[in-house]
Amino acid sequence: MPIDATQPYDDQNIFAKILRGEIPSSKVYEDAHALAFHDINPQAPTHILVIPKGAYVSWDDFSDRASDEEIAGFVRAVGKVARAAGLVAPGYRLLANTGPDSNQEVPHLHVHIFAGAPLGPMLA
Ligand code: ADP
Repeated sequence: MPIDATQPYDDQNIFAKILRGEIPSSKVYEDAHALAFHDINPQAPTHILVIPKGAYVSWDDFSDRASDEEIAGFVRAVGKVARAAGLVAPGYRLLANTGPDSNQEVPHLHVHIFAGAPLGPMLA
């Protein structure tokens, strides 16, 4: 069900559990600021999620409350994951759903990386 991106952070959300190691994920990258893993229900041949380690509901919450160090570390991590996966030359798409109209379902900020085939126009 789509979430309200203005809600307080719920530390029982599924990505919080992945960060704590309580449920498994198919990890592709981890550093001090970010964790990246394969989406369990891929919408493209390559579909990776990158999440910040801090407790942020959405892109809005993160861009408002995170420190400059956290923001820089997270943005660099997203780029690093894409480069390490060899996605720069063929190309990739980033997406961060925020709130009900976007259909955000997990209330912990995540950036989707879609790649591996021509993706077509947005919102097609
Ligand atoms: P939507 O589900 O509408 O794409 P989100 O932007 O909130 O909304 O995306 C949540 C993503 O998390 C989905 O792509 C879903 O497949 C993925 N997902 C949910 N649970 C897991 C999990 N345990 N491991 C990996 N990916 C997951």
